[in-house]
Formats: sequence, C-alpha cells, structure tokens
Amino acid sequence: MEIYFDNSATTKCLDEVIDKMDQVMKEDYGNPSSMHLKGLQAENHIKTAGERISKTLKASPKELVFTSGGTESINLALIGAATANQRKGKHLITTRIEHPAVLNTMAYLAEQGFAVTYLDVNRNGGIDLKQLEEAITGETILVSMMHVNNEIGAVLPIEEAQAVIKEKNPDTLFHVDAVQSYGKYQINLHTSGIDLLSVSGHKIHGPKGVGFLYIKEKTKIKPILFGGGQQHNLRSGTENVPGIAGLGEACFRAYEAIKENTEQLYRLKERFCTEINKLAFAHIHGKTGQDSAPHIVSVSVDGIRSEVLLHALEEQGIYISAGSACAAKKQQLSNTLKQIGLQEQIKETVRFSFSKFNTLEEILYCTDCLSKLVPMLRKYRRR
Ligand code: PLP
Repeated sequence: MEIYFDNSATTKCLDEVIDKMDQVMKEDYGNPSSMHLKGLQAENHIKTAGERISKTLKASPKELVFTSGGTESINLALIGAATANQRKGKHLITTRIEHPAVLNTMAYLAEQGFAVTYLDVNRNGGIDLKQLEEAITGETILVSMMHVNNEIGAVLPIEEAQAVIKEKNPDTLFHVDAVQSYGKYQINLHTSGIDLLSVSGHKIHGPKGVGFLYIKEKTKIKPILFGGGQQHNLRSGTENVPGIAGLGEACFRAYEAIKENTEQLYRLKERFCTEINKLAFAHIHGKTGQDSAPHIVSVSVDGIRSEVLLHALEEQGIYISAGSACAAKKQQLSNTLKQIGLQEQIKETVRFSFSKFNTLEEILYCTDCLSKLVPMLRKYRRR
C-alpha cells in the first residue's frame, strides 16, 4: 500500500500532463524561436498554455511569464519590481511566515540597500491588517504576501490586504505567493489589486521545474536573467516547451472541477482532524475547517520526534513530511512554527497534506496507524 500525504511538498503528475509532454518531446520538439514549421508548432504550445492559464485567473496571456517554478517567479517578482521601482522608494513589506524563496530574496534585497518590514503573525498564522496599514509609507514600493502557508495551511487575507495597500499608497505593488493556493481557490486578477502572482507547476499535478509569474499590464519590472530576449525580454532563455505545455494542461485540469475537488479536500481534512482530535497525544496547529487551506494539516505528537514518526508511518506505506520539505532535509527548525510561537513542539511536528487522489479509507487507515503506533513508540522511548 502507498498513501501519499505529502502533497504540499509535491504532487503526482496527471496522466494527461505526461501525455502532453510526451507528445511535445517526441514530435513538437522545435525551438519556439525558430522560423520554420517546427518552431511554429513549439510556439503554439506556449501560446495555448498561456491562453489556458490566463482563463483560470481572468488575466491576459500577455501578462504571464513562464519560469522554472515558484522560486524563480518569486525572485523575478521581488528583485525585478524592487530594482525597477527603486526611484519611488526603497521600502518593502512581507510577513514573517513566508517561504524561504521570499524571505531569502528579501534578505538579498536588504543587502542591496532596501529596507524590509516583516509583519508579525498570531498563533494561527494570521496577520494584523492594521499593522500592514501602518507599515505602508510613501516609500513603500512592494508588499509580498503568501496566500496559503505551506506548513500550517493558514490562509492570509489577500483580498483585504490589497484593498488596504491600494488605499494607503496606490503606487505600492502587491505580490502574492500563490504556490500553495492556486488550484484550490478562485482568484480573479481582473478585479483585484494584485500586481504580481507566483505559481508553481509541481504543486498542482504538473511537472517540476516550471511555473509562471503573472505581471499585471503596465507593472514596471526588470528582468533578472539576460540573454536572447525571449518572453518580452523578461525571461531570456529557450522556453521549456514540454514543461510549459504540461503546466498549461495541469492548470486547466486544476480549475476544470475546482469546486468539487476543494469540497472533497475539505471533507477529507475535516474527517482527519476529527480523528486526530480523538487522540490525546496529538495537537493540530493553526485553524481547521473552511478558515484554513483545504489540504494541509500540521500536527504535533507529544514525546515523538517528527523524523521518528515520519519513518514509522513510512513503514506502513504512508508518506508525510516533518515540517516543510525544504526545511526538513536541512535539519533546520521550521520558521513558521517558530513564528506562531511554538517551542519544544516544533521538533514533534509533522505535516499531512492531501490531494484529490486521496480517499477517506486512506485517512482512516492513517489515523488508525497513528493511534496504534504512537503509544508503542512512546513506550520504547521511556526504556
Ligand atoms: N512558495 C511556497 C508557499 C511554497 O510552498 C513553495 C514550495 O514548496 C515555493 C514557494 C517554491 O516553489 P518551487 O518549489 O516551485 O520553487
């Protein structure tokens, strides 16, 4: 048996995505910049992907730049917007629980002379919009905020935030890291004040190493890669055509039945949380229910280190993560869990994250395993 509950780290590729990429690699392998038919065929795949993706966000294909994934999209958004707008001011704002792709890019920009304000979070990962409003000045050129936190599934108020930002300083750009929320939430970029939005393919059953950055028309941004001038000079380099075609397919599929998929995820999560709450040794961090993301649950288990539980569940065929994937391998303590005020529990926290391929049977099997395994592990620990 294989039960994959690590969908915030990455997801399984859809068969339709694999078929599309297979076709592009085998048949339509031309360079999209070439002037002959092979080039045109490749270019058409990029065009189709752009059209399919832009429909999911009510954006225009011209507003999309394909990248190598969430990290590159975020780097382009933050560094590109900061350098292009620095004459207006050198102040940036973000939250304390962002993904390292944002936090480390902000740290780089701070080294380049930008001032960065970090918004505090409460026990549930929520922010105070009043603190955001007070932080924005005439010098603030960019606010970057994640939509869904990858470790505890907190949902940040991006709709309210964009209203606060544009009211206080209409020139301040707003970047949203939607890597964990795209495909789970309807985001209408046509009517919102979001100027930049980052998405990654491998979190939505698409390929790894490909994603896109949405850049609202007329937003001033500078490239961070230089070369042949592809993608309106914003992202040089021959496009990853199979990846982009696969991404287009994955995005289309993610929104085709978004309502049903999200409802199914909430049902799974609710049942999982109900079962977890029956276990006296387990504690859920952050909000649950519709106030939280449909696919992520952060749980600490008294007295059992996260990596011990991870491997004990692995032996039962269940794959989860200790904290977040990127922090886990480096043996670093999770930043989000620290920022929401956890101390010793951080080392005992694991993350379960679901996808539309998971079933109620898998949920019940997992919670049953936990109820049997944990008392045993704790017994051994005491000897
Ligand atoms: N932002 C968030 C919230 C994420 O969860 C991740 C990946 O885990 C990223 C950004 C980085 O995306 P990628 O792995 O495509 O570089």
